[in-house]
Amino acid sequence: MLGLMQSKPLLISGLIEHAAANHGDVEVVSTLHGGEQRRSNWRTVHQRARRLASALGGLGVAQGDRVATLAWNTDRHLELYYAVAGMGAVLHTVNPRLFPEQIAYILNHAEDGIVCFDLDFAGLMTQIAPQLTTVKRFVALCRPDQLPALELPGLCCYEDLLEQGDPGFQWPLLDENTASSMCYTSGTTGHPKGVLYSHRSTVLHSFTACATDGLGLNARDAVLLAVPMFHVNAWGVPYASAMCGAKLVLPGSNLSGDKLYATMRDEGCTFSLGVPTVWLGFFQYIEQHRASLDLSELRLKRVVVGGSAAPRAIIERFEQLLGVYVIQAWGMTETSPLATIGNLLPKHGGLPLDERFDVQCRQGRPIYGVEVEIFGAEGQALPHDGQQMGELRVRGPWVLSAYYGSAAGSALDAQGWFSTGDVALIDPDGYVQITDRSKDVIKSGGEWISSIDLENLAVGHPKVREAAVIGLPHSKWQERPLLIVVPKSGEQVDATELLEFMKERVARWWLPDEVVFVDELPHTATGKLLKTKLREQFRGYRLVTDPA
Ligand code: ADP
Repeated sequence: MLGLMQSKPLLISGLIEHAAANHGDVEVVSTLHGGEQRRSNWRTVHQRARRLASALGGLGVAQGDRVATLAWNTDRHLELYYAVAGMGAVLHTVNPRLFPEQIAYILNHAEDGIVCFDLDFAGLMTQIAPQLTTVKRFVALCRPDQLPALELPGLCCYEDLLEQGDPGFQWPLLDENTASSMCYTSGTTGHPKGVLYSHRSTVLHSFTACATDGLGLNARDAVLLAVPMFHVNAWGVPYASAMCGAKLVLPGSNLSGDKLYATMRDEGCTFSLGVPTVWLGFFQYIEQHRASLDLSELRLKRVVVGGSAAPRAIIERFEQLLGVYVIQAWGMTETSPLATIGNLLPKHGGLPLDERFDVQCRQGRPIYGVEVEIFGAEGQALPHDGQQMGELRVRGPWVLSAYYGSAAGSALDAQGWFSTGDVALIDPDGYVQITDRSKDVIKSGGEWISSIDLENLAVGHPKVREAAVIGLPHSKWQERPLLIVVPKSGEQVDATELLEFMKERVARWWLPDEVVFVDELPHTATGKLLKTKLREQFRGYRLVTDPA
């Protein structure tokens, strides 16, 4: 017997309609090109998105067509999020920090017909335009008076285009499984691969972001979106903010510590999210200007840290300096991305801070909808004993089933699991702890050493700004860890001091064999340490401990 409830499809247009109807006056504040500030709200975003959808239709964009963006966090980008998906086309957010050849590859692979770009990327667009096989039009995200003279096919200005749209445009009723947006994985190995989200997966994922034990996003929040909108849909928050009616603050291209601090203060932000590197910059600014800052001006309460492991030092500083709870979240492009989220259980209620930080250092527990499991080398499920490390696999309604262009289900094993390529342990309370990417884990004498744990430990030293650990070949142990450190500016730190500090906090045999100091570490386009580059850089390096 079937239930007798209405079966309204879960559509992205429904999110923005809801926000406009119930939170219409709630602000969407943007920093545009050149630092210009613009104040919009959910009602205006909805009106402009409808106009834009109609105008894109006028350019020939049909359902299923891909529209690419190379854009910072602004209300125009947000309007594109809703217009493109809402009309039944697919929003393809491209990471502008990738190499130009990779960007051209991605645009061609997705067969994008239109590219919308921020003025910062005008040069990049003209550079790659001759390599693009399907793009017929370029839209510059600016006002008519800002439109540069560029040799680009069908170039037009966003605000002009919007003017041409019908303000009475109505959203089509789509099947909720219709594709809505796509992102490509960073492709540090091999070609980038496309992940194609649907309206249904996006709306379900938004409920998670709004759930109390999800990210807890709600109508009382003012969100500073410090994760780029080209980075896995800014972790779903542009959609979730419409679902709950949160104020949205979009900081444009500048994520420097001083800019983040000022925006947070001026806009009364209560909630923010970003990768660890962004927060390292934020605290560097605070530390350097501690004497002149009144930290009580900030209303910040919760910060989501993800994309890479949140170093303990960040979790501690947020709590101790600002009284902010860090929610560590784990996920990937293939998981929309929210999969495990670090909230507390009743048993953690009275914990001393130090022990609570131990819990927050893990990547959290699975949220409803997502199942996680760890598997050993023979494919056997491993116990959740907080000891055994295995390959992390996931499944759920917002986890991909296949990469773009491949047959449905082709990314899964026979039991429907997607292999993440991460190595993790799961403790008896169900908290996942990511110990490494499987290619980064250091295999020493038949045991595994977590490069992430060592990096986080090193960053806990007051003179260290950033640290990376890679495994180098060793004739006796197979591999041993090398620690590569960027000291804080103006600080001197030596290897002995650092190893002494680490020695008390880690198993003896985990201790790096050597420490080298550098001015800078290479990062991927999403701000993660680029280990492939480091391994290349240190190829042939002989550890002093290697007797061979
Ligand atoms: P993104 O585009 O979000 O960076 P990717 O798919 O490129 O997503 O990267 C996902 C990978 O990032 C994960 O498989 C994992 O290795 C790493 N990662 C994400 N969040 C965390 C976290 N909280 N702790 C440790 N590693 C993380």
